[in-house]
Amino acid sequence: MTGTPVRLDLSSPSRGPRGKPPKHFVDLTPEQRIDAVTELGEKPFRAKQLATHYFTHLSNDPATMTDLPKATRDKLVEGLFPRLLTAHKTMTADNGTTVKTLWHLFDGAKVESVLMRYKNRTTLCISSQAGCGLACAFCATGQMGLTRNLSTAEIVEQVRAAGRMLADGEVPGGPTRLTNVVFMGMGEPLANYKSVMETVRRLVAPTPDGLGMSARNITVSTVGMVPAMNKLAGEGIPVTLALSLHAPDDELRSELVPVNTRWSVAEAIDSAHRYFVATGRRVSIEYAMMRDINDQAWRADLLGELLNQRGRGWVHCNPIPLNPVPGSKWTASDPQVEQEFVARLRAHGIPTTVRDTRGSEIDGACGQLAAEEDE
Ligand code: SF4
Repeated sequence: MTGTPVRLDLSSPSRGPRGKPPKHFVDLTPEQRIDAVTELGEKPFRAKQLATHYFTHLSNDPATMTDLPKATRDKLVEGLFPRLLTAHKTMTADNGTTVKTLWHLFDGAKVESVLMRYKNRTTLCISSQAGCGLACAFCATGQMGLTRNLSTAEIVEQVRAAGRMLADGEVPGGPTRLTNVVFMGMGEPLANYKSVMETVRRLVAPTPDGLGMSARNITVSTVGMVPAMNKLAGEGIPVTLALSLHAPDDELRSELVPVNTRWSVAEAIDSAHRYFVATGRRVSIEYAMMRDINDQAWRADLLGELLNQRGRGWVHCNPIPLNPVPGSKWTASDPQVEQEFVARLRAHGIPTTVRDTRGSEIDGACGQLAAEEDE
């Protein structure tokens, strides 16, 4: 990685009252879009035209909608495409192939998304809530508390904006498409279940009703909200489920991830396994490696045993060096300790890949940018 740490200026726009975001075209189903267009006095087929501009051409700019009469497009865009996100700050690392954007929402709430370009894929990490109410001990977002849930359109807009950026060749390597989306930015996605599922539906719906992405390339993460995980298993959309476990024993996990006092390690793993059985999709176990906290070899052994108790071949482990939050005691494990942890998991037959820490120089841990701005 290249670049130097960037600190934000602390000026922030005036914050209005927190509230419900205005309804947007993307919040609507294809049928509702037709109703909305006709309510504005336009012909039903205009809905399809607008959907094509938005989902196929990734545009919400009336200037590009030249197949609609000017007055029509201005009226429809004004009525159905309220501005939901404003890019307040953009930071890059990795020679420009990692782009982090701090967005201001209509009411002054802040969220982040991170676009990462790799050799064979492009991945966008998106936020589903402004802040988060689950208070994980090591997480910058968790220290902020929950501001509010994002609407479907506020989440999809992060994806459209990244797709546009890639199509316009703004990320080094030439114009390309967005291939992967991970719900690993700010917030607990399953605590905003309805909007997140509606977002997934928009992402996988074939163009022009949606973005036409593959469900397999969409990862929904959770710290283990068991009832919602069980519900997700019944949706019939085979997204990848990532369970952020971070500890294999209840004692430590309840300290790190307070929601564990509600649903234990065993319950979370059982639910993840049920997801595999229902969907055939291998589940990812995320494990932030924290020095001297959760990185002991015995914990790797315990994790391997717990996963194998449910069966073989159903899970993949992703240890990830913790992105330290400035000023906190939490920091990443030593590389040798991490290697030993990985070796132990592999010895138990668990496929294990250390995830990279792209963007750590730009306050890559989710929530850090927004948290700093609030200081
Ligand atoms: S780790 Fe995830 S669930 Fe926990 S506080 Fe942070 S954003 Fe919320």
